[in-house]
Amino acid sequence: MFSRSEELFERAQSFIPGGVNSPARAFKSVGGTPIFFREAKGSILVDEDENKYIDFVGSWGPMILGHAYPAVIKAIQDASFRSTSFGAPTEIETRVAELVQAMVPNIEKVRMVNSGTEACMSAVRVARGYTGKEKVIKFEGNYHGHADTFLIKAGSGALTLGSPSSPGVTEGTAKDTLVADYNDLESVEKLLKENEGEVAAVILEPVAGNMGCIPPEEGFLEGLRTLCDEHEVVLIFDEVMTGFRLSRGGAQERYDVWADLVTFGKVIGAGMPVGAFGGRKEVMAVVAPEGPVYQAGTLSGNPVAMHAGFAQLQVLDRHPEFYVELEQKGDYLKRQLTALLNQHGIDHHINQAGSMISIFFTGSRVTGFNTANTTDQGFYRLFFHEMLKRGVYLPPSPFESWFLATTHSEKMLDDTILAADEALGVAKLKHEQG
Ligand SMILES: *Cc1c(COP(=O)(O)O)cnc(C)c1O
Repeated sequence: MFSRSEELFERAQSFIPGGVNSPARAFKSVGGTPIFFREAKGSILVDEDENKYIDFVGSWGPMILGHAYPAVIKAIQDASFRSTSFGAPTEIETRVAELVQAMVPNIEKVRMVNSGTEACMSAVRVARGYTGKEKVIKFEGNYHGHADTFLIKAGSGALTLGSPSSPGVTEGTAKDTLVADYNDLESVEKLLKENEGEVAAVILEPVAGNMGCIPPEEGFLEGLRTLCDEHEVVLIFDEVMTGFRLSRGGAQERYDVWADLVTFGKVIGAGMPVGAFGGRKEVMAVVAPEGPVYQAGTLSGNPVAMHAGFAQLQVLDRHPEFYVELEQKGDYLKRQLTALLNQHGIDHHINQAGSMISIFFTGSRVTGFNTANTTDQGFYRLFFHEMLKRGVYLPPSPFESWFLATTHSEKMLDDTILAADEALGVAKLKHEQG
């Protein structure tokens, strides 16, 4: 059933570390062989063995309008015929910036980059340059790409200092990154007080999506806004996942809390390598060449990528009803899955915000890293593979959000529920048999 994927993975491993160009693709958390894809249209994926799947990964977020959306493909084709890059200004960069501002009003100035990683790395540099301070507070379980600053986990025991979560990240970097608990304002206040006058920025996912979907608790974002104002700290919302997904204006609009700097990625590039960071004029004024904080990129604002992103954003801007529909689909999926899990008598906690949703196989409410970790990973593994066999492609990790697209039809959602009914039954049986 997966013979060609197996063969391709074997070959890839001879030439590429672990056979993949980004680790989450390797199926390490669920086991088995990663599926190699050939093509996709809307929410249907086709793999190299001609198996078809309903897609709940959406390239980890960008594909909010589904794969191969006609206006996006046409924009890419047209732009590429006029050259794939100039390394000089083009009008489309300003048009994207204008559209981003129209959709997200506190983005007065925006700089384009090539990935979410680059956006977050640059936003932190800007915050440091703007405030003249060095430390950064991040949250355990939030992901901001793979820049050194962010590959830091909470230190052990009484230590408030972070420690590197990857070899190659220095202790020197770790000492400037402080780690707080998500949805826990007190943990932030404590760090701010202990490091008074030294913290440049607080960075977070306003809805966490990289430890499964974890929405902010009532008052959490507002509280951070107040703390950052009191301590003169730049508040950075990492909206790489949530931007243009949770609403036209992202999580900021959904929760009506507005950051000083915001990072984007994923949806903004429609599947092309695009990231961006932007915010208040006076903060962005430090960015070179307007100001002294260096930031650059040979391919930044690339015309093909900009045209693709513009095409997708324009559709989202013009169709507010898409967000209403995505919300309804998310609600529907949550309701149906909840009913099923209850029928099967399986412990669960489902978190959902709009088109982001996760099932945690646990009896406890999931509000942060520690509670997320109570999920039964072995059960997810079984469930994932039973779903895959039944033509549903879920994220290959229990700690990733599922994504809905405008192209998920009611029938696809119902087929997913039917598959889940069988998959949960089989997974439960296998789980009990150990
Ligand atoms: C995906 C992601 C990133 C990193 O973006 P890349 O384009 O993979 O570098 C950063 N922050 C969040 C919240 C993300 O989901």
